[in-house]
Amino acid sequence: MSTLVYLEHHEGELQKGALGVLSKAAQLGDADVAGVVVGSGVRELAADAGKFGAAKVFVADDPSLDAPLPQPRVDVLAALVGEHGYDTVLFHASVLSADIAAALAARLEAGLNWDLVDIEGTGDGLTGKRPALGDSVLVDVGWKSAPRLAIFRSGTFEPKETGGPAEVVDVSAQLEEHSTAATMVERAHEESSGPALEDAEVIVAGGRGLGGPENFTLVEELAKALGGAVGATRAVVDAGWYPYAHQIGQTGKTVSPKLYIAVGISGAIQHKVGMQSSSTIVAINKDPNAPIFEFSDLGVVGDLHQVVPKLTELVKQRRGA
Ligand SMILES: Cc1cc2nc3c(=O)[nH]c(=O)nc-3n(C[C@H](O)[C@H](O)[C@H](O)COP(=O)(O)OP(=O)(O)OC[C@H]3O[C@@H](n4cnc5c(N)ncnc54)[C@H](O)[C@@H]3O)c2cc1C
Repeated sequence: MSTLVYLEHHEGELQKGALGVLSKAAQLGDADVAGVVVGSGVRELAADAGKFGAAKVFVADDPSLDAPLPQPRVDVLAALVGEHGYDTVLFHASVLSADIAAALAARLEAGLNWDLVDIEGTGDGLTGKRPALGDSVLVDVGWKSAPRLAIFRSGTFEPKETGGPAEVVDVSAQLEEHSTAATMVERAHEESSGPALEDAEVIVAGGRGLGGPENFTLVEELAKALGGAVGATRAVVDAGWYPYAHQIGQTGKTVSPKLYIAVGISGAIQHKVGMQSSSTIVAINKDPNAPIFEFSDLGVVGDLHQVVPKLTELVKQRRGA
């Protein structure tokens, strides 16, 4: 087996999700695990990937690759697969990686399994695990031919430092004419403070029980006091109360912080699947029969408007002391 992992980077850092997939690839026992970094001014990121299990990291470093557009990246990956015969190409879930994986599958006429939450070696092949039926069951999925392409659900694997520096191999980007047709017009960054949802050890998430977008400050203040990030349910995202980037669940992000505080959240299955692997779950809900209490470690039955400000105040006092 030979595995190539796409290592997405932003603002000078390899993405945690991609490093998690790389660590998992290394654990599969495949000696030939390589990463690939594509961009401009990204060469120094490559060696770092060795720590997470890459024996080799290919780097396509060129000013023409600066914009995070998929097609030039597909050219680089397709050339590597063609030249080195990688039989498995793995991606973590992100908008860019999903675009690249889909286009690479079309280019190579390869099978792509997506939304996987695990993968294991079976004989001389691989079997992926994919949640189905509202995440209530896991199904085994496979590939009929190589190369096998897969996208893993975000937050599935933690990066594990197991190795040393990787051999860095420069590759030149031979771009197809159609791959340069798109240009990036503008890049905008959402201003945010505190840790990213995927990395946060503490998440305070708000639901429709907040009653309105203005009450999200209750959640934000508690998250700030705990040094955590803010999450949201789809109900409040769909209502426009909070941005989609904060949505947790089946159609949002999967998180596994040490502490997850659910404020005014009923605990629908589609929300549960995105946060159920949190170490400790605390729910604040006025309905004692809310489903969230069935999978919470600690439940507070009460009006969030009374409970949350007091809790925030207490946390501030304790932390200040
Ligand atoms: C295909 C599909 C995908 C989906 N994907 C997602 C997803 O990714 N993420 C997600 O979250 N949802 C998802 N959903 C939606 C999901 O089914 C639920 O509708 C949603 O999670 C409910 O959000 P909520 O808990 O904020 O709202 P509600 O279910 O309305 O719950 C609000 C809760 O707040 C409590 N409450 C009200 N007032 C107070 C108060 N003053 N104090 C304390 N508690 C109070 C109520 O008792 C209630 O339990 C999906 C649905 C479908 C069909």
